[in-house]
Amino acid sequence: MKLYSTKSPNKFVSLKEAVLNGLPADNGLYMPLDFAPLPNTFFENITQYSFQEMSFEVCKHFLKGAIPQADLKAIIFDALNFDVPLVRLNDHQYILELFHGDTLAFKDFGARFMSRLLSYFTKDDNEDLVILVATSGDTGSAVARGFYEVDGIRVVVLFPEGRVSELQQRQMTTLGKNITPLSIKGSFDDCQRLVKEAFLDASLHQKLRLTSANSINIARLIPQMLYYFETYRQFQSKGMDTSKLVFSVPSGNFGNLTAGLFAKTLGLPVYQFVASVNDNDVFYQYLQTGEYKPYASKQTISNAMDVGKPSNFARIIDLCSTWNNVKDEIKGFTVNEEETKEQIKSTFSKFNYTACPHTAVGIEGLNRFSQAEGECLGVVLSTAHPAKFKSVVDETLNADINLPNRLEVLKEKQQNYQTMSPAFEDFKSFLMNF
Ligand SMILES: *Cc1c(COP(=O)(O)O)cnc(C)c1O
Repeated sequence: MKLYSTKSPNKFVSLKEAVLNGLPADNGLYMPLDFAPLPNTFFENITQYSFQEMSFEVCKHFLKGAIPQADLKAIIFDALNFDVPLVRLNDHQYILELFHGDTLAFKDFGARFMSRLLSYFTKDDNEDLVILVATSGDTGSAVARGFYEVDGIRVVVLFPEGRVSELQQRQMTTLGKNITPLSIKGSFDDCQRLVKEAFLDASLHQKLRLTSANSINIARLIPQMLYYFETYRQFQSKGMDTSKLVFSVPSGNFGNLTAGLFAKTLGLPVYQFVASVNDNDVFYQYLQTGEYKPYASKQTISNAMDVGKPSNFARIIDLCSTWNNVKDEIKGFTVNEEETKEQIKSTFSKFNYTACPHTAVGIEGLNRFSQAEGECLGVVLSTAHPAKFKSVVDETLNADINLPNRLEVLKEKQQNYQTMSPAFEDFKSFLMNF
């Protein structure tokens, strides 16, 4: 498998280099060169596979010898060890529940796969690898959990002080061992900037072997393609008509949606992608005007999507080339706080289904798409378990939803973390002594 940087399309690296570097030195993003579609036989036989077997077939084709088949199979079967239920609301609306992993959010897919890939690629090295990850909540907890106690890897997680939910924070700050959490006095964008600056800093690179686990790392996007195929597999297994398959993707950094575009480019028959965003609408505005104008993020109840400068934007442009193509591939909807809460309520009253705020944004986006474009086979990616956002969901539904046991036990554990200013010098001196 060969990859290039979006800023140097003629220079290639291996999958190992791309995964270990995280970000190319020219500040672009790594992209796979070859998107040859999967063979027809794969789609004809898809119902005969399990989720893991199908995932192995997709990765074998896409990664083209970057990892020997037996090792790849072991990584996939170990990383993707949880269910991906497709829940029916009605004939035109389904919810793909991506929250059945360790930290109850879809980021477990990327984190578990990436940790095993990194550990595989560095198994013969002496020096520790240091993973830097900026989080608005869910990435940090998934990465911390996914890399916990993985040999040869240390993780530094940066989260914005007071802007992640208590449970998200506890998922990052109660592990210890090879996981170091930093509470940054700033926004998610500050955290993301600190990580980016660290990667571009030559003296830090000399001192530490750094890599990133944000959705800029290509290793996270690979497993995220797989549940788009899984949706198709489950519909095909039920003999359903998938000719108007629409995915509504609650989006922040657009890693999830980019992975969907990857799947489509590999031949998955997707009729339409819908980008559902909250008040952080920079991508929505881009779709309307053709102008991309990043701005500081705003805080919302769907906080994992509070992103003012989506980090995968360059990948979407690279794949689609022009604004017109982007507009064809992706329809956008922006959903405000009130509308999100209304949707949590009406999804519960109509379907007896409890949606987290991000999922509710996705459901609202799908509804608006169907109103505008007619009925389809709509699938909303449900990115987190509602209990991860218990206070908002409880308040909105006037309820007291149950915490799954995995979250309940966190309340008893001791938190350990440092607080830090958003100035790069402070972060740098911390890393120089790490
Ligand atoms: C990260 C996250 C999102 C946004 O995903 P992107 O890939 O950054 O667009 C949506 N919902 C939840 C719960 C998340 O954790």
